[in-house]
Amino acid sequence: MTDCLFCGLIAKKANVLYEDERVFAMLAPEPAAIGHIVVLPKQHAPIFESVPDFVVSDLFRIANKASISIFEALGAQGTNLIVQSGESAGQRHNHAMVHVIPRFENDNLPIGWNPSQTTPDQLAKMESAIKEEAKSVGSFEKEKPKPIEQEKPKEVPREDLRIKQLRRRP
Ligand SMILES: [Zn+2]
Repeated sequence: MTDCLFCGLIAKKANVLYEDERVFAMLAPEPAAIGHIVVLPKQHAPIFESVPDFVVSDLFRIANKASISIFEALGAQGTNLIVQSGESAGQRHNHAMVHVIPRFENDNLPIGWNPSQTTPDQLAKMESAIKEEAKSVGSFEKEKPKPIEQEKPKEVPREDLRIKQLRRRP
């Protein structure tokens, strides 16, 4: 998609930290803080909900590794992993992504909320409304427990080595 800023950046391999056949991770061109990483599907998707499930899984696996890199490379005290779906949620570009944002005590980034009050009745109504809708997509079905496998010695996956390049950045 030629009019998408992020498809253009992916094509140029701008600020690339990690890349595989489906996922691209780069330093955010408009960062909330220094070290802010965005993890994107390479295939254009205008909103997170349009990303195929298996790519969602890849995005969060890489976002988690990016988060680990931020802790280690920047000495961050925390990270936020954020998805903005829709303008009212703060989405500013027409390409789905996971934001990985380094956090430090008193950094005053405006991320978070004050808990609002709710009644048990409101919660019950909301629960049944969402459960009813979710039935059609199977979203809240319980995954069957898997047999516990014996711990195997782990190979270092290639993506680990590549994302560690972040550490070499000043
Ligand atoms: Zn795009």
